[in-house]
Amino acid sequence: MDDEKYDVVVIGGGAAGLSGALTLARARRSVLVIDAGEPRNTPSAGVHGFLSRDGVAPAELAALGRAEVLSYGGQVRDARVDTAVRDGDGFTVGIDGGTQVRARRLLVATGLVDELPDVAGVRDRWGRDVLHCPYCHGWEVRDQPVGVLSTGPLGVHQAQLFRQWTEDVVLFVHTGPRPTDEEREQFDARGIGIVDGEVASLEIVDDAVTGVRLRSGDVHPRRAVVVGPRFTVASPVLAGLGVPVTEHPMGIGSHVAVDARGTTSVPGVWAAGNVADPIAQVMGAAAAGASAAGAINADLVAEDVARAVEARRNPFSAAAVAGRTPEQFWDDVYGQLDRMFSGSSNLFLVRQASDLAPGTALDLGCGEGADAIWLAVRGWWVTAVDVSGTALDRAAGDAREAGVAGRIDWQRHDLAESFPAGSFDLVSAGYLHSPPGLLPREKVLRAAVLAVAPGGVLLVGAHFGMPSWMTDPPPDLHLPSPEEVVESLDLDLGEWTVEPARFIEREQQGPDGVLGTRTDYVLTVRRRAL
Ligand SMILES: Cc1cc2nc3c(=O)[nH]c(=O)nc-3n(C[C@H](O)[C@H](O)[C@H](O)COP(=O)(O)OP(=O)(O)OC[C@H]3O[C@@H](n4cnc5c(N)ncnc54)[C@H](O)[C@@H]3O)c2cc1C
Repeated sequence: MDDEKYDVVVIGGGAAGLSGALTLARARRSVLVIDAGEPRNTPSAGVHGFLSRDGVAPAELAALGRAEVLSYGGQVRDARVDTAVRDGDGFTVGIDGGTQVRARRLLVATGLVDELPDVAGVRDRWGRDVLHCPYCHGWEVRDQPVGVLSTGPLGVHQAQLFRQWTEDVVLFVHTGPRPTDEEREQFDARGIGIVDGEVASLEIVDDAVTGVRLRSGDVHPRRAVVVGPRFTVASPVLAGLGVPVTEHPMGIGSHVAVDARGTTSVPGVWAAGNVADPIAQVMGAAAAGASAAGAINADLVAEDVARAVEARRNPFSAAAVAGRTPEQFWDDVYGQLDRMFSGSSNLFLVRQASDLAPGTALDLGCGEGADAIWLAVRGWWVTAVDVSGTALDRAAGDAREAGVAGRIDWQRHDLAESFPAGSFDLVSAGYLHSPPGLLPREKVLRAAVLAVAPGGVLLVGAHFGMPSWMTDPPPDLHLPSPEEVVESLDLDLGEWTVEPARFIEREQQGPDGVLGTRTDYVLTVRRRAL
């Protein structure tokens, strides 16, 4: 899994995807474009009808677009997305059968596939002198003999359209419907020819279409051939996301139905460009990408606002933690005050450890170090661990002042990732209460069990429910009971003795200065000596 999570992953880096990414990067969103590098118009020499860049080569347009995205800090990766699935409140995107990245939102801009008529020569000449779009190529074949290869109802319409660019248009009925009497009259009036019979192949001489050969063997000289591909968009990416692919209302293929801003029926997923609108040209696709990007940013802003309010109301909520590492979170917590805690050691430790003979001790989640210093003063050799460098710096300063710096080894660990080496006569895990998702408490406590030396003791100090002054407790903060903790330790009772939990009631002041009570407990778990 890629470490990074992006605000938006854009799947497909054609005009729609790059334009969306540009808008998002300029909106200071982290954005990754993943592009397989096969825009539909690749075979064409130039992009026509694109204001200010008319005729630019497709590859040049893509390179310019990529450079603009990169210049604002967006990222572009040459790869194919195989899978995309919802993952919590975001998405996981699988790339090239291996790497995975995560995103808060997705912009699908994968374009479409042109299903071409199965006639020899059509695929070879596609985008050069086998065409479909008069606005893209009509000018380039003006006044030339053009044949329309009909495979469906669109053929008649295409013949009438191309007549705007050239007087020499012939409709090859091929497998399309025969023109109605009314259409024949229209064709006669506009001088459009009709050739019945199935087409066998295109005549190609010196890298150019020269005619259309029928199955009968007749050859009709033509310089360009117009086809009506079926536009299809089905992909495992859309299927994995549950984005429905439906028939386009014009009967020209399939598409993803979206609203005017590219919103799909799946929350968090937008679609833009040909994947949603098969007849969009490059400019339209780019505009749709930019519009969807604006909608995505607005959606992210709304979420950011909601999270900020939630985090403000409850600094220990999942919203407050979102997007931050444990180190960042705890450094911020400690950084808000010159000193967070009273500097006195915890009551649970004082009560349970005062009579223990000093040896080696491990203090997990030592914070500003009061417990570690208390132990060191009593002759213990202490390894004290916290994720916050800010807290550890303060603790080390206090230890120097107390004259016990040499007895304490301060170590910074994110206990979700690493655990101090060694075994200890006393392991103290006090108040390992973290916001949801920040600390795998049960995993850490099981590691704490393994760190207790034979004959040693594990102390688990914890809050027992919320303080009396807290009228609106955070809904997503779970404080496990002593029984739950014991169960999670997974102890071999032949080797361990669990003493009944001792409850400690103490006074505690709430944030508004209100005095209340708080109940804590301590669990003492002893390991048998060898
Ligand atoms: C032959 C031809 C000529 C054309 N000429 C013109 C013209 O002159 N002027 C004009 O305005 N329009 C022209 N068009 C239309 C133009 O190609 C489209 O309007 C435009 O390409 C749509 O942009 P898009 O970003 O939606 O899709 P595309 O440009 O097709 O880009 C989609 C991108 O997504 C990538 N992709 C697909 N699936 C994945 C995946 N799973 N993972 C990662 N990447 C993926 C593709 O490789 C591609 O790079 C032409 C079309 C054709 C077929």
